[in-house]
Amino acid sequence: MFGVVQGVGYRPYIYNQANNFNIKGWVSNQGSAVVMDIEGEKIKVKNFLLQIIKSPPSLARIEKVEVVSKCCIGHLEFEIKPSLGDTVGLNYLSQDVAICPECLEEILDPNSNRYHYAFTNCTACGPRYTIIRKLPYDRENTTMDVFPMCPNCEKEYNDPSNRRFHAQTNCCKVCGPVLSLLTNTGEEILCKDPLQRTITLLLEGKIVAIKGIGGFHFACDARNQVVITVLRERKLRPHKSFAIMVKDLETAKKLCMIGEAEEKLLISNKRPIVLLEKKVNCNLPDQIAPNMKKIGMMLPYTPLHNLLFQDGISCLIMTSGNLSNAPIQYENHQAIKNLGGIADYFLVHNRNIHIPAEDSVVKVINNQEVVIRRARGYTPFIFPMKAKYEILALGAEEKSTFSFTQNGYGYMSQYLGDIKNYDAYITYKKAIENLRTMMGLKPYIIAHDLHTIYLSSVYAKSQVGKKMGVQHHHAHMVSCMVEHHLLEPAIGVIFDGTGIGTDAKIWGGEFFIGTRENFMRVAHFKYVAIQGGDQAIREPWRIAVSFLHSIHYENWSILEGIDINSIKTVKQALDKHLNCYETSSVGRLFDCVAAILNVRHRITYDAQAAIELENILDPYVEEGYSYSIYEENGMYQIDYKSILFGILKDLENTVAPASIAAKFHNTLGNVTIDMVCRISERYELKIVVLTGGVFENNYLLTYMLKGLKEKDITVYYNQQIPTNDSGICVGQLGIVDAVEEMI
Ligand SMILES: [Zn+2]
Ligand SMILES: [Zn+2]
Ligand SMILES: [Zn+2]
Repeated sequence: MFGVVQGVGYRPYIYNQANNFNIKGWVSNQGSAVVMDIEGEKIKVKNFLLQIIKSPPSLARIEKVEVVSKCCIGHLEFEIKPSLGDTVGLNYLSQDVAICPECLEEILDPNSNRYHYAFTNCTACGPRYTIIRKLPYDRENTTMDVFPMCPNCEKEYNDPSNRRFHAQTNCCKVCGPVLSLLTNTGEEILCKDPLQRTITLLLEGKIVAIKGIGGFHFACDARNQVVITVLRERKLRPHKSFAIMVKDLETAKKLCMIGEAEEKLLISNKRPIVLLEKKVNCNLPDQIAPNMKKIGMMLPYTPLHNLLFQDGISCLIMTSGNLSNAPIQYENHQAIKNLGGIADYFLVHNRNIHIPAEDSVVKVINNQEVVIRRARGYTPFIFPMKAKYEILALGAEEKSTFSFTQNGYGYMSQYLGDIKNYDAYITYKKAIENLRTMMGLKPYIIAHDLHTIYLSSVYAKSQVGKKMGVQHHHAHMVSCMVEHHLLEPAIGVIFDGTGIGTDAKIWGGEFFIGTRENFMRVAHFKYVAIQGGDQAIREPWRIAVSFLHSIHYENWSILEGIDINSIKTVKQALDKHLNCYETSSVGRLFDCVAAILNVRHRITYDAQAAIELENILDPYVEEGYSYSIYEENGMYQIDYKSILFGILKDLENTVAPASIAAKFHNTLGNVTIDMVCRISERYELKIVVLTGGVFENNYLLTYMLKGLKEKDITVYYNQQIPTNDSGICVGQLGIVDAVEEMI
């Protein structure tokens, strides 16, 4: 049996079912598969197999079953045999699972011997992916190997009727990991109950770095404005929203709008951060997500988290324990060294994290889950591929991930952050090496982005294997096609910030037609020369100057508070083509409009200007601006000029920025729908995929879904594989997987 079959209570389940059906033989983990040798009455064997395949434990996912008939050797009983080390067939790794209801009940029951024990787990819950060092998933191959089970735990482990029967991470107060509270210089604070003391510290307004499943969080009281401001100052994070963890669903419902789909996600055993709209009467301090209508919220997912909420705390800031842009910290001594300047205290434990993973982030669109960041609980992500050869796809640069194929399946790694940051790059390389060893991966082809300056491309160069450069936007398009199992030709609408095109210009407002194997660019936004390189990305007012200069607009007083001499310098550089690049990026057009409306002139996190522009728009405004589409050498182009003139005229007439923002979004939707229809007619295609980071914009996405549906066009968009650059690696894999036949 192949699939997610280890660490999910499958062998104990098989053992119990074998006894029910009077089956003799054995079951064992082999590599990452579960192997059985069974004997019994024919009908009983059939029913037994049906039972264990059709109704496995809730966490198991059976992907493939192979059956071989052999002679009976007369087994006298059914037993669980020790694991066999060999790796056979598909390799599967289990995901980390939030605490189950039974374990939760146990830690809150004063009569239980696991009362208030922060590492309680069973076959249905607990860490998996973040603690495994090698396959198969057995205690000695995880970071739990240093905690020999006490006689009581051993008894549970060996008792088929116990829910901890063969629970590899089983432990208790006597034998398992323990908590310690440390100062921010790493000295232990001796106290009877580190957890209780932590609660007191949090209520007193302190920042505590707390070690969880995939790494550290900075925790502080989300009702305390002062400490949130301090955390922002120390973390050098003035604007970007903090995620919060709330006591329970009831608390969550008081603060945010939670529909059925959102509720399901909040309480799911993956426990992601769910983006939710704040209620009008939400009384949380604005410092958590300044001026934003939405907030990222999650429910407690470890026993430790649940215990933090037992004594007066209802709502905690729980933000990744890292320095700005650096990877999440997950080792005690490193965390104290690197985060000691931010946290006042550290609540640590002695169960090592082997593979760090941040919290996953999801949202709901049209009542369905859309994953923005795949990490803890969602990793690894597994999907079918042809995969004749083993392929390693290295992704892009910001929001990096990697993926690989093996034995007919693709695997996507956890989110690994912006690898322009040196530490993140090291973590990225380590994560690749780690999985490579664990899965015995020997890639024949290494896929990478065409952009040679991306560190993922630099890494590709250093690797043994055939290299294949993949165009960034084609990879976005195919990421969506892989997710929806699309093999036929489609129209691709790919809007993002940056990606190098085949003409060496920066693309990002693209319309393709194509398949997984190849694509043709049939339309794009008109190129504009942007001056200032990376500095312009950080300072959208520079982008506005570049756009406005290109349409000969000279009234610079609209950019409030921007020094006229700085504007002149940008203009002069534009005239002389100094440090300029041409781009068709829709991401940059968003930056331009946000700057013109004085919503954001300088950003402190990725895509801030676009996020804030969407956040202020008035959803009741239905109008848009006029736009123009022209054709040059068989290529459609969208001229942004009339859109900008429409905005500038509205500004002169003092139309509210909220209306202008809405009209801009509507226009972008209208022109895109118009373009898709023209392409659909010309190339006789009725399927469109919408992909790229810009489609994280809910308003634009839903506007287009509605508009295209009315035009009778079938639309696909990224749901499980992120639409942002962390989905790129899957697209690269899909492309190489499709063309490998031709290699
Ligand atoms: Zn449990
Ligand atoms: Zn024990
Ligand atoms: Zn991109």
